[in-house]
Amino acid sequence: MTTATLVEPATGFHALSLSPSVLAAVEAVGYKRPTSIQKAFIPRVLTGADVMGQAQTGTGKTAAYLIPYFERWQDSNHQEPTALVLVPTRELAIQVCDEAKKLSPDKELHVLPIYGGRPMDAQVRGLRRGVDLVVGTPGRILDHLGRGTLMLHKVRYLVLDEADRMFDLGFREDIRRILKNCPMDRQTLLLSATMPPDILSLAKRYMRKPIIHLQMSPKKVTIDKIRQSYFTVDRHNKFELLLKLIEREQPRQCIIFCERKIGAHRIYEQLCGERKRVATMHGDLEQSKRERIMKAFKEGKICYLVATDVVGRGIDVMGISHIINFDLPLDPENYVHRIGRTGRMGKDGVAISFVLPEEGKELTRIEDFINKLIPEDRIEGLQTYEKRVKNPEEEKEMKPIFGRRSKRYSQRL
Ligand code: AMP
Repeated sequence: MTTATLVEPATGFHALSLSPSVLAAVEAVGYKRPTSIQKAFIPRVLTGADVMGQAQTGTGKTAAYLIPYFERWQDSNHQEPTALVLVPTRELAIQVCDEAKKLSPDKELHVLPIYGGRPMDAQVRGLRRGVDLVVGTPGRILDHLGRGTLMLHKVRYLVLDEADRMFDLGFREDIRRILKNCPMDRQTLLLSATMPPDILSLAKRYMRKPIIHLQMSPKKVTIDKIRQSYFTVDRHNKFELLLKLIEREQPRQCIIFCERKIGAHRIYEQLCGERKRVATMHGDLEQSKRERIMKAFKEGKICYLVATDVVGRGIDVMGISHIINFDLPLDPENYVHRIGRTGRMGKDGVAISFVLPEEGKELTRIEDFINKLIPEDRIEGLQTYEKRVKNPEEEKEMKPIFGRRSKRYSQRL
């Protein structure tokens, strides 16, 4: 029996008409069956069409775009990159590279991560040795393009992972400049859990028609298996609530999301005084430290990671049982990305959000976006917020806008 035949023919990767070497590589990683996004995405990408894949996070998106690359570009020249994967964060670049190295059917195929915070020299040496697939963050890719150490004229396979973020204002201009360096004659793939309409129409400008748009579960952007709830809490009670919640939930591994770096650092310091295996992760940390922390987190050595949205995108750590939104995210899309760090590959997860009494509007926007009411949570005997005197005027004002939420909003006041 060849290794590839161990994969179940009817439901396994066989059905996707992959070559024996790619099947063998997939099987060696231990993937028995393609996930829904892989089943839908891979055959369409193999036709050579430009594809947008909107899929829940943690559902095997990375392999969905890597496998077709390996299938079609095994015989690349190993000199200049034929594929470029753009990702918004350094951690994601490392993770995608790891997945690519695991899934590569040919050890001669070189994968190189290119991201900031690391010495240019080592990356230049890597590029000189010859590369097939570059996985990078926009800023550093532009640095290399500017210095002439990276050429993209052979890129035929371009992936924008977490695409909504890549077309966000912060990255938009960088992306435009990078894409100008890639040939027009290329296949472009976009993947993201969320895709707001304005971003979608902007992104389409960089794709060839007809574009295939795969929307895996249109309304249910959050994963069903995640138990979601929220606490109404005054700012000064948040930390006490966090400790009580940790006691109640006993998370296996948990990310505590804060909106700002300074906030994350403060909560981290406070939590260190109360718990072991605590770390923090935000953009102000040195890159080598960020990598050490991510590695320790993936290995399960860290239990509580107090972080900003720098880990809200695409990070894949199987052990994460809980997401705590110490601060509500600024936009609903980020909520989906954050809670997608748990409940991965069909596992259960818990996502609990701390909502200030005046944040009713923000919570409603999240609920509208995920098309689901998030139930309120309580801990017996713990008062998390001061009851305000009801303001009938405010309540009146809220009602027509927020419908049934207005009732809950007024209860929170
Ligand atoms: P992603 O959504 O790409 O972050 O993937 C989530 C996790 O699923 C990663 O740990 C992958 O290694 C894993 N994975 C991807 N495809 C499969 C598959 N077909 N079977 C089992 N695990 C998979």
